[in-house]
Amino acid sequence: MFEELPELKDHYLRCVRCGQCRSVCPVFEVVRNETATPRAKVFLAHMLASGEVKASAGVAAQMSRCLLCQACTKECPSAIPVHKIVTATRSLLAREVPSSLQRIIFKEIWTRPRLLQLSAGLFRGCQNLGLTGLGNSLGLLPPALNLPGKLPSRQARSFIQEITKAEGTPKMRVGYFLGCATNFLFPAVARSTVAVLARLGCEVVTPAELKCCGLPQEENGQTEAAEALANFNSAAFQRLGVEAVVTDCASCSAALRESIALKGMEILDLSELLNDLLTGRHLQKINKVITYHDPCHLAKAQGITAGPRELLGRTCGEFREMPGANNCCGGGGSFSFYNYDTSMSILDKKISSIKETGAEVVATCCPSCTMQIRHGLSKQGLLIPVLHPVELLAQGLGIGF
Ligand code: SF4
Ligand code: SF4
Repeated sequence: MFEELPELKDHYLRCVRCGQCRSVCPVFEVVRNETATPRAKVFLAHMLASGEVKASAGVAAQMSRCLLCQACTKECPSAIPVHKIVTATRSLLAREVPSSLQRIIFKEIWTRPRLLQLSAGLFRGCQNLGLTGLGNSLGLLPPALNLPGKLPSRQARSFIQEITKAEGTPKMRVGYFLGCATNFLFPAVARSTVAVLARLGCEVVTPAELKCCGLPQEENGQTEAAEALANFNSAAFQRLGVEAVVTDCASCSAALRESIALKGMEILDLSELLNDLLTGRHLQKINKVITYHDPCHLAKAQGITAGPRELLGRTCGEFREMPGANNCCGGGGSFSFYNYDTSMSILDKKISSIKETGAEVVATCCPSCTMQIRHGLSKQGLLIPVLHPVELLAQGLGIGF
């Protein structure tokens, strides 16, 4: 499933250093240093694999300066999967120069739902006591810890049943992959997804024992843990007789397409499924100006751009396309935690694009992008909500919570 660096040799040897990837890399655009370019990462991976460069913390830091946004992969005339080369290099570095912090967070805690829940509870407790705010104002905590905002008091898993029955005559049975970020940070999105699917005739199966999709582990070099999670999750769906899985998180669906899809599971895109189910149905329009940000894991990794827009067209009074809607917001999962200043500079461009549209609501399909864009808007004092299209659809269907 996950390719190791030697398996990608044919790819990295094809790099002709043309530099076309440089022109689309959001990190290079901000850093303006050749070492931050995609081609420099490909070259470094090559030298690491051939033994010309030794694994070190410095090499790991250089490899961490990548959002895995895939803009370079799409642009490369030699069709080099740069993001896969970066991921495989991080995996090699995690073995040769292991970071205890990365291992504890992504392998020991994030793969165990109870420990993850306990950590989220502790973090929320610190927020409620004002300790995180105090730590931030004294400069004792990394500013990236502000990114998640105030954690909701209830996680989605506490109110979503394993089986949610379809309203009316059932049309289909679908598995719902409830991702960690949606569960802890955006439970209202999960609530809307399940309610909308049920309203449109789906029996929704949300296995109680699901674990993380494996993307944070893969991004942080913990590929063995990611592989184990994929096996665990596909078995959880199979036990409940589910063959098609949908999720409201672009990052989870990208990861699932690369992992459990290979174990015979069909991964459906939520917007495409909802558009099909809504055929011939008229909805109450929301009288607001709405714009849409394309998550990299949906648009570039999966080529899905039309479905969310079609869905928004059904529910919104007025849709305005933002300039560079397909450009990365700078979140990139854990990238913003390792490279906060660079991440914020990339985000500033996204916020300018949003402001240009005059939108009253921003829609996007990824919790990492939602978290990042909310952070950027709030830093500029802009009270523009960032919502998932499924939350707008729930309103359009008159679903009240
Ligand atoms: S665009 Fe492709 S071939 Fe050209 S430098 Fe970048 S990775 Fe190498
Ligand atoms: S994946 Fe994105 S951030 Fe990483 S090197 Fe390519 S363009 Fe730059």
